[in-house]
Amino acid sequence: MAIIIKSPQEIALMRQAGRIVALTLKSLIEEIRPGMKTRELDIIAAHELARQGASSSFKGYRGFPANLCVSVNDEVVHGIPGDRVLREGDIVSLDIGAIFEGFQGDAALSVGVGEIGPRAKALLAATEAALSAGIARARDGARLGDISAAIQLEAESAGCSVVREYTGHGIGRNLHEEPQIPNFGQPGQGPLLQRGMTFALEPMVNAGGWRTKLGDNKWTVLTADGSLSAHFEHTIAIADSEPEVLTSL
Ligand code: MG
Repeated sequence: MAIIIKSPQEIALMRQAGRIVALTLKSLIEEIRPGMKTRELDIIAAHELARQGASSSFKGYRGFPANLCVSVNDEVVHGIPGDRVLREGDIVSLDIGAIFEGFQGDAALSVGVGEIGPRAKALLAATEAALSAGIARARDGARLGDISAAIQLEAESAGCSVVREYTGHGIGRNLHEEPQIPNFGQPGQGPLLQRGMTFALEPMVNAGGWRTKLGDNKWTVLTADGSLSAHFEHTIAIADSEPEVLTSL
């Protein structure tokens, strides 16, 4: 299957979906605090999406039961909000997708609950920097592998590892379109990037080893060695000059 090129009109709708995702994430990080149940974040997300005339990309996707993913500490991605109570020092990854006028936006970030330790802080900084490095390579005429390699280099030079089993992806009318975008790879390899391509770049970075395991609920992905994990994601468009971040806060 080919990578779908979007028209300027389609990108305009994705910009709106992306803005809804960004504003929803902003509301969530303003509300997050020790003592909160992760289910409360799901309620806020549902309310914010509805208020903006959007619906969740995730609820019901392959049977996923919530509006957003909430992954705590050694949980990598796909955490299901529920009765878990957030504690001071936890790190929480929030991943949210919105559908607006038939188009999708998808973004994630990781934040500390109250004060967090230096190792957790360094992991968050490395993961966010890895995403920025990937975005900077997302240019007309570059190769997909340039993005993957930049993400990997940034994360690994901070002494962290990138998750291999889960990847970024094309996005548009569908949440997951071609291509898959690994967070590791070789520069100069893979498909040629063109203006109008839209991608969700999403490094998942572990403080320990890269291996993961699946939790008992068959959704939540955890680090195999119990180390902390962080996740940052933006939906972007390849444009004429600078890459456009459609989900910027
Ligand atoms: Mg995604």
